[in-house]
Amino acid sequence: MNINKMDQPNPGIKCVVNTCHYYMTGDYCSAEKIEVQPRNATNTEETDCATFIPEARA
Ligand code: SF4
Repeated sequence: MNINKMDQPNPGIKCVVNTCHYYMTGDYCSAEKIEVQPRNATNTEETDCATFIPEARA
């Protein structure tokens, strides 16, 4: 899934995953859209953002 990285935050998302390619300072996500998994999750800890990509390290 190739998700566009915007040059501004997605206003509907707060995310603290600062190791993600799409993370923006201030706990924002710059992904145009995200996908959350898995189906049939029963609590918060089980759910994850499937759009996460590790930030490239120089
Ligand atoms: S893609 Fe997912 S993990 Fe990455 S910043 Fe956005 S919401 Fe957070």
